[in-house]
Amino acid sequence: MASSLLNPAARAQAAWDVTAVRRDFPALEQTVHGHPLVYLDNAATTQKPRPVLEKMLAFYQQDCGNIHRSIHQLGERATEAYEKARLRTQAFLGAGSAHEIVFVRGATEAINLVAQTFGRQRVGAGDRVLITELEHHSNIVPWQMLCEEKGAHLDVAPIDDAGELIWEEFIARLTPRTRLAAFAHVSNALGTVLPVRRMIEAAHAQNIPVLVDGAQAAPHLAVNVRELDADFYVFSGHKVYGPTGIGALYGKRELLEEMPPWQGGGDMIQSVSFARTIYNRVPYKFEAGTPHIAGAIGLKAALDYVSTLGLAAAGAHEDHLLRLGTERLGALPGLRLIGQAREKLGVLSFTLAGIHPHDVATLLDQQGIAVRAGHHCAQPVMEHFQVPATTRASLALYNTEAEIEALARGIEQVQKIFQ
Ligand code: PMP
Repeated sequence: MASSLLNPAARAQAAWDVTAVRRDFPALEQTVHGHPLVYLDNAATTQKPRPVLEKMLAFYQQDCGNIHRSIHQLGERATEAYEKARLRTQAFLGAGSAHEIVFVRGATEAINLVAQTFGRQRVGAGDRVLITELEHHSNIVPWQMLCEEKGAHLDVAPIDDAGELIWEEFIARLTPRTRLAAFAHVSNALGTVLPVRRMIEAAHAQNIPVLVDGAQAAPHLAVNVRELDADFYVFSGHKVYGPTGIGALYGKRELLEEMPPWQGGGDMIQSVSFARTIYNRVPYKFEAGTPHIAGAIGLKAALDYVSTLGLAAAGAHEDHLLRLGTERLGALPGLRLIGQAREKLGVLSFTLAGIHPHDVATLLDQQGIAVRAGHHCAQPVMEHFQVPATTRASLALYNTEAEIEALARGIEQVQKIFQ
């Protein structure tokens, strides 16, 4: 195996101590329907490591106060922890300033925020917004709503049958009337990694700003928004081993400054009178009301956790499992893998001849194997492949080779039942 030792990815994978990693996740210790839990629904949400749970509990037990307003000890501790979480998120995304990080509920809220502020400001009648065919509904519907309101047109760059973006079609849709391009970094339904850096470059060459939906990239790839030169980048904490209800919007400072506020309320203002309200500076201008303080603290713990383990090593481990799963599942008769992009991560989406994906998921659940069945909030992708739904196994840094084997055997069991 001397040759594999020369390969950094193989070396990182070999060094991955998955048994130790699994000990950090109490949820993985349980049995379901009498079987050890095999959790393969990570693209929907991930399990949480102990530091995330402990930090959130400690906040509620000791430091629970509101932020940016209370002078007392607890309020000050809460404010400090919340702002440290912002700094951590800034570092995680490689942003230039913490003022470019807006805390939101998740990727969905971040995209809606941009659509309803930046989008409303910039998109007018006859203008165009560009997305791709493989987007999650949360990167389709907000733009549809905006286009409908403004009398603008939503362009869709198609994918091919491997699940890859058709480059020429994307380029052809960067028109002089295109006011914004919004696309996923990684597809949740197919695992396709889009060539976002090139896409951003091409859009910028036409002065078109770009929003990248990083919901499925942030858990697997080291992201650097400045290297990408993304104008906006969004992700959800719960997919990166953090809590639900917290996520981040990165926006270039000059763009955030120009944008009108989104929701009105406490904390987003500098002063209020009935005659006139002066808004707070960024990012607070976009954070009306009491935010998910414990969530931000949990998010920081999650980002610390993955950064300490190393996303590159985790990615190499997941990549190894993906290859193994692709080989093992791909060899099963009657199984069709949906999405075979050359650049792909984390997702095994498939159909079984003659068996509905919901039945597959239900029967796998009986064996303790958690997968997702459905359209994965990406109905246009299902339409492209002319399937109503798929079964999707999605990977995380704590999954094992044995779990891939359990999945394959589970599928064989399902097929036997339907024979
Ligand atoms: N975009 C992608 C690619 C996703 O996978 C998801 C979640 N499945 C979202 C956006 C929305 O994320 P959330 O529901 O956390 O807002």
